[in-house]
Amino acid sequence: MVKKILGELKRFLSLRSLQARIFIIVLVAGLVPSIIVRSMILDNYEEHSVAQRISNVQNQLLIVGNHLISNNYFNTKPEGYSSSVSRDVIDAELEMISNLYEGRVMIIDSSLRVMKDTYGISEGKTIISEEVIRCFQGANMSNYDREHGYIEMTTPIVDATVDSGQIVGVMLTSISNETILATLETLDRRSVTFQNLMVVIILGMAMLLSIILMRPFNRVTQAINEVKAGYSDESISVPDYAETVHIVDAFNQLLSRMRTLDNSRQEFVENVSHELKTPMAGIKVLADSLLTQPDAPAELYREFMTDIATEIDRENQIITDLLALVKMDKKAQELNIVSLNVNDMVELILKRLRPIARKRDVEMVFESVRPVVAEVDEVKMTLIMTNLVENAIKYNKEHGRVKVVLDADHQFFTFEVSDTGLGIPADSLAHIYERFYRVDKSHSREIGGTGLGLAITKSAVLMHRGAITVDSAEGEGTRFTVKIPLYNAAHSGQGG
Ligand code: ADP
Repeated sequence: MVKKILGELKRFLSLRSLQARIFIIVLVAGLVPSIIVRSMILDNYEEHSVAQRISNVQNQLLIVGNHLISNNYFNTKPEGYSSSVSRDVIDAELEMISNLYEGRVMIIDSSLRVMKDTYGISEGKTIISEEVIRCFQGANMSNYDREHGYIEMTTPIVDATVDSGQIVGVMLTSISNETILATLETLDRRSVTFQNLMVVIILGMAMLLSIILMRPFNRVTQAINEVKAGYSDESISVPDYAETVHIVDAFNQLLSRMRTLDNSRQEFVENVSHELKTPMAGIKVLADSLLTQPDAPAELYREFMTDIATEIDRENQIITDLLALVKMDKKAQELNIVSLNVNDMVELILKRLRPIARKRDVEMVFESVRPVVAEVDEVKMTLIMTNLVENAIKYNKEHGRVKVVLDADHQFFTFEVSDTGLGIPADSLAHIYERFYRVDKSHSREIGGTGLGLAITKSAVLMHRGAITVDSAEGEGTRFTVKIPLYNAAHSGQGG
């Protein structure tokens, strides 16, 4: 269990897990915007507040500037006067502004002399400042120094009574930005708290989503595991996503293929057992009947023993055929391809089978249309031809005829075996290649058939990438035609 959890964790951390990827995507998609929005809001707030503060101060200073002019603060008008009372009022106004904004206001006249300093340190001194000089030239400025925590600005004092408005003085003001920073800090603290809360919520959501989204895939794995463990062999269904439907469909097809294979294997084992038991039962009956007759004559013994030997031969034949079939079934079994003279091969097979034909008084004819040389597996090709010719003899009538025709074009050679025998009923034609299928069981047994010959033949033909067809008329005869490529692709490829 611990090992399993560790394995899951390792897979999760190695990012090979889809769940880990979903988790990270949701996490990033949730967190990145919230971080960006937070820093944007804070930056925006600072910029906006500084601009607001500058504009507020400028407005108030402009009002003070007007008062300065109307009270002839700079003594610019010969008829004007500047009483100490009005001067006090203006000074109080300036003090108020500097207190309100925690700053310092200096009034500088056109000879760059400080006429008023709310700090009271620079009065009477001359100020050589680029900003002030520029302001006299008409370019007022404001400058935010975040590092030192103040905002500096110049405000022109314009005498509107003179034509085209003459700048008679400049106010150089610096105010603190502390209140802005304090608000910013509070805002930042709150947004960090909010963001932490968001992290927790998004983490939870990411976790939850990754689990929920992966659930159908887990269900697929679970269903497949149940089939694998053998608890169920039912088709599975997980219709949640198109992807799970595809996986499940593919799995169900595999399952049904396995079921078919399993059924055919079961059927084959049943057939094999049955076929193998039949000669055994015969032997048992023969032996038992001898045993129950203690003084049976020697001739009876000999007769029964001959029958027993025949049954043993049959059993042997079935086993030999079965082994041939199993060998054929092995996909890995490579064909042993050689270039062969097929005419010679057919001659040899017919020569071997001639004694059986003679026994049944069946005439055999070989018609070779042209010499054929082909790339085939000699053993398997011999098996194909022997089985077909042997069947044509076995299922023939007395004094019947078997004709073998060998022909070829530039791609294939055809091997045709026709007989004048019993023929195969139409409804049996589809079954003759099945293992253990026999049209007439007792007749086939009588003549030593196992029902495996044509199954072996078809497998061998398919291994050569060839085709086998059959025409038959009951009571008239049968014709099997085998068509095999002259050149074996794999062999030719190897040979160049
Ligand atoms: P078996 O060992 O019984 O001959 P096969 O697989 O070779 O098995 O053939 C299957 C069945 O097809 C046979 O039992 C027989 O009934 C039928 N059959 C095969 N070849 C012929 C033929 N040339 N003429 C008539 N029936 C045939």
